[in-house]
Amino acid sequence: MRGVPIGKAFGIPIILDWSWFLVLVLFSSSLAGGYFPARFSGWPGWLYWLTGIVTALGLFGSVLLHELGHSLVARGFGVPVTRIRLFIFGGVAEMGDEWPHAGSEFLIAIAGPVVSVLTGVAAFVGWALLRVGLGMDLTMLDMAIPAPAAVLPGLLSLEALVGVLGYLAAINVVLAVFNMVPGFPLDGGRVLRSVVWGLTGSLRQATNIAVIIGRIVAFGFIGLGVVQIVTGSLVGGLWTIFIGIFMQGAGRAEQRSQLAKGLLQERFVAHLMMHNPQITRWAVPGLAPEITHGKSVSPDEDLWNVLKRMERNNIGTMPIMRDGQLLGILRREDILGYMQMLSAGGIRI
Ligand SMILES: [Zn+2]
Repeated sequence: MRGVPIGKAFGIPIILDWSWFLVLVLFSSSLAGGYFPARFSGWPGWLYWLTGIVTALGLFGSVLLHELGHSLVARGFGVPVTRIRLFIFGGVAEMGDEWPHAGSEFLIAIAGPVVSVLTGVAAFVGWALLRVGLGMDLTMLDMAIPAPAAVLPGLLSLEALVGVLGYLAAINVVLAVFNMVPGFPLDGGRVLRSVVWGLTGSLRQATNIAVIIGRIVAFGFIGLGVVQIVTGSLVGGLWTIFIGIFMQGAGRAEQRSQLAKGLLQERFVAHLMMHNPQITRWAVPGLAPEITHGKSVSPDEDLWNVLKRMERNNIGTMPIMRDGQLLGILRREDILGYMQMLSAGGIRI
């Protein structure tokens, strides 16, 4: 697992990806060096840095709240949530995809942007109240009239708080709006799929339609990036293109995953045992307990469920047991190899 576990929220482990530390440094320095000095004058240098770091951490907290929104609603529908990972693009809540129905996928997907809007509104209310409460003093500081040294640090820190809240109010709304762009892996892609799923009754068809629309949007991002580069914004343009390419890949991955799910859900461990006799050859009595740590599969379990279980618990090998008897050893590669053959149309069972 890449990244640093930093604790749990509601029992869900939170992992900080290494790329996130890079973002923290870039964000803090651009806020401290550009954004805050442009809006607030007369602060000592350390206060710009402190405010920049606090704001960047606030952004991290905002993304975490967004992901918790998805996670808690998912859990409410009985969908297991493995972990929340925060990385360079923001965050992702890793969860199962066994949504009971279109409505549940819709609510799980929309929960993140809703939380972001609420966080933004809360920050805005705090920002407005603070500004109204301290309006006169802040104006005085803005005009750089020297204040008594004893009062100044307190007022400055309140002014810095106004800056933090103002930024968080805006960025949370941006977060909500950007996430509603209709393309995987963004929430908008999932919202779109759940709506089409609800209308057509077919998850697979809904995935295909959502992926096609997402692909158009991703091409739009790439085109926009090219325009940005041509008009002189190299870094911004590259970033936009990068997002477009990332969305293309995510769309394809989602389609593959749904295809695999369809194929594997209809097949059972027993099917794979028939297809691949190697699996039963490993049935050496007494071998099971040390590999399993008490975890095993039954021949009647569907292969999609088994694969998800292995991925979730990071297990490569599981014994196949029935009535306390070892029937074989199932490896993750066996399922993946079988899936590849199925998707190539090689076998029909
Ligand atoms: Zn989200």
